[in-house]
Amino acid sequence: MSNDFENGTEIEVKDLNLWYGDNHALHDININIPKNSVTALIGPSGCGKSTFLRCLNRMNDLIPTCRIEGDIQIEGQDIYSKEVDVVDLRKKVGMVFQKPNPFPMSIHDNVAYGPRIHGAKKGDISGIVEDALRSGALWNEVSDRLQNSALDLSGGQQQRLCIARTLAVKPEVILFDEPCSALDPISTSKIEDLILELKKDYTIVIVTHNMQQAARISDHTAFFLVGDMVEFGKTEEIFENPQEKSTEDYITGRFG
Ligand code: ADP
Repeated sequence: MSNDFENGTEIEVKDLNLWYGDNHALHDININIPKNSVTALIGPSGCGKSTFLRCLNRMNDLIPTCRIEGDIQIEGQDIYSKEVDVVDLRKKVGMVFQKPNPFPMSIHDNVAYGPRIHGAKKGDISGIVEDALRSGALWNEVSDRLQNSALDLSGGQQQRLCIARTLAVKPEVILFDEPCSALDPISTSKIEDLILELKKDYTIVIVTHNMQQAARISDHTAFFLVGDMVEFGKTEEIFENPQEKSTEDYITGRFG
């Protein structure tokens, strides 16, 4: 597997297997995910994309029936080692979900929440909030109403707020689990533009059902099928010249 990415490797996954009870949901996944670029995970529903994504910040730890074997290193650190503090890991590896999930509090407090928990100084908070909202491409729309409830924002704005909330704790990796599937086309295109901007500073892994989206925004694509990672490579190669028949069948719409 290629290790010579332009910006180096951020995440190395070796022989990852995962079970939910008796359901062997991920089989021997091996993948290197490049730094400062966008990696898309595609494949039919139920093939393990979200499960794999959740392994990268140990969100599956919250599921009692879940058992994991294998090795995941992020910037050379074994994230499943006993020494790892999961709260710190989730700060470093942030996550944005399908449905925007702002906290029921003001726009300002949503973004300030993480930095406060992680001990940011009181005097630094408003600067951190502004920077994060600017980086989340939301500042211009909300700067005059930071104390309003986040729940009054539109769906697309709420999703950008969730991205800003993730950015506020200065992650290195951002995991996106179908971040646009609940959004209209204009909001979707704003999030896509934002992701392309963010990859300059962050490593991005995105699950998407939308093949055009994967083609538009990702540098690399991994195709999953019933718990296997069938193929991984540069996005244009996966889309234009897939090596596996099942990849070709999926991207040409023959199943899924
Ligand atoms: P995808 O993201 O590709 O749609 P998932 O990762 O959600 O796929 O699901 C992969 C498999 O794991 C499916 O068989 C699904 O039923 C199972 N699964 C997902 N989440 C859970 C869970 N919390 N508990 C038990 N089984 C789960």
